This record gives sequence, C-alpha cells and structure tokens, in this order.
Amino acid sequence: MIDGFGRTIDYLRISVTDKCNLRCKYCIPEGGIELIPHEELLSLEELYRVVRIMEKLGIKKVRFTGGEPLVRKNLIKLIEDVGRLPGIEELAMTTNGVLFAEQVEELKKAGLTSVNISLDTLDRERFLAITGTDAGRQVLDAIQKAVNSGIKVKINCVPCRELNEEDIVDLAALSMENDVDVRYIELMPLGCGKYFHGIPTDEILQKLEMQYGKATPSAMQCGSGPARYYEFENFMGRIGFISPMSHKFCSECNRVRLTAEGRLKLCLHYDTGIELKPLLRGGYSDEEIQAAILEAVNRKPKAHEFAQETADSTVENADSRRMVQIGG
Ligand code: SAM
Repeated sequence: MIDGFGRTIDYLRISVTDKCNLRCKYCIPEGGIELIPHEELLSLEELYRVVRIMEKLGIKKVRFTGGEPLVRKNLIKLIEDVGRLPGIEELAMTTNGVLFAEQVEELKKAGLTSVNISLDTLDRERFLAITGTDAGRQVLDAIQKAVNSGIKVKINCVPCRELNEEDIVDLAALSMENDVDVRYIELMPLGCGKYFHGIPTDEILQKLEMQYGKATPSAMQCGSGPARYYEFENFMGRIGFISPMSHKFCSECNRVRLTAEGRLKLCLHYDTGIELKPLLRGGYSDEEIQAAILEAVNRKPKAHEFAQETADSTVENADSRRMVQIGG
C-alpha cells in the first residue's frame, strides 16, 4: 500500500485487547480505564480476517500489542495463523513481559520472531511504584528466557523525570551483558503521559556516554523503524533511541494500527481512520473491505503534532484514546 504522501505501508500493529495487568502511572489513570465490552472486541477470527486482507495489500510485518497482549486468551493460535500467511515475514510482540516466560516456548513454536519487552527500571521498589505490581523479577526472567529461546529481544524504556530518571544509566547495562538492544522512547503527550515529563534523547545519550564512554552510531540501523542505534565498546547489544518529540520521523512512517474494537488508525496522534467492525460484521466481502482500507490509507496524516500538544492545549482531531487502548 502507498499512502497519499508516497510512503509504503507494510507494517500493521494490532492491539488484541485493551486490558492490561500493570498500571503504569504514565499510561493508565489511577481508577483504570473503562474497558470495551467483550462483544465489542474483534474476535480472533475477525482479527485474522483483517490481517489476511491486509497481507494481500502488502503488509509484511505484524506486531501484537495491547493493553497487554498476553492476557488475551488463545492469542497463540492467532499468531500461528498469521505466521502461515505467505506474505508475512516478521511476527513481533510488544509486552510488559509479566506473563511471557510461562508462554515463551509456545510463542516461539507459533513463529514469534521478535519481542519488545517494556521495562522502565531495574529497581524493585520503583518497579512497584511505577506499575503497581511487584513483578520486576518476572520481567527479567522473561528477558532471559526470550534470549535463550532465540527470539530477538529489545527492551523499551520510557524515561520520565518523575519516575525513573535515576535508573536510565543502569538499564543500559542489560545490553552490555546480553545480546539485546535497550531502547529509550521519548514520552508522548497521550493520556496520562501529558502529566509527566519525558527526558529528551540527547540528554540520555549524554548520561550514557558519561558512564560507558563514547557511543558510535551503529552501521546497522533496523530497516525503516524509527529507532536510531548506537554502539558502546564492550556491549553485546546496541542502544536505541526513539525520539518522536525531539527528532520527528513521520516521513519514514510505514505503519498503521488496528485497535481491539476494530478501528484502523492511521497515525498514533490523530483519530483519522476507519471503523472496520461494521464492515466485518455487516456482510461485506473481502474485496469491499480491501477497497475501504486502501481509501483510508490514502488519508494517512503527514505527521504527528505531539510537540504542540501539552496538558492544556490540544490539537484538532487528536485522538483521545490512551496508549493502553492503542498499544504504542
Ligand atoms: N502492555 C504492553 C507493554 O507494556 O509493552 C503493550 C502496550 S504498552 C501501551 C506499549 C508501550 O507504550 C510500553 O512500552 C509503554 O511504556 C509505552 N507507553 C505508554 N504510554 C506512553 C507514552 N505516553 N509515551 C511513550 N510511550 C508510552
């Protein structure tokens, strides 16, 4: 698929549920969110049908996210089915890792090729304070088991002044001792994210260089992904930065998102998109759904305007969904 600005769209991120088993402060409000009623969620069969249709349109990479994807029952079967589609080259997941270790073998067998595990601190107390759950140990176990299984592992950390500033440098050590990439993602002003202060990429790079020595831009950048990678001497893995606030990367955007209730979202920031559920449940043919998707993709916004969006100013047509409802 080519969008209205000539970008090739070959990456689909699917949020398989809006439920999460953690309560990260910058992601979920204290009282939780109003969950989508079960019958309003796309079934696994409906999710599969969307991927099957979009694979024919050129989707090559699928990422399962949430909420927390691993709380969705029978997800493994969906991963397996999607992996059998001939055009799908990469099957990825973004998870908080809490339930990963117990499912790692099945996930590997189902064809999962890579996993991004979210981890904002190595400190047990702060993990509990940020997420509301004392599960840091399970996440570290998940990282180890994923590495041992041969699934490619990336660790995603969202640096936040109020929550984990003192942990940023220590987290990088995970990629010194293991063949994993540790990536720092700038906090975006979505949902509760508006009420915290992210730490810019350049500042983090400086902190890391003070501790680990000079970083060299990696010769091996990962395809068209938004992360920019660096290498430190004696590190097994690399350090990556995803910098939507300080270094916009929208001109290279290759992705669209499917929410758990079936909205095809064209940009993380904007509400622009199309509701697929009425088509899936309304007797429309694959060809009709394909045409509707192509028409929508043509309307993909040029770029996000997060920099303009703060706690007290909003951008017209900005999506009011929270990150836990979109999946990152
Ligand atoms: N539960 C899964 C997980 O923890 O990875 C998947 C969903 S979670 C919403 C996906 C990622 O979004 C996590 O790494 C989380 O830290 C990140 N995230 C949440 N709110 C964010 C924000 N406002 N800005 C940047 N990243 C955010």
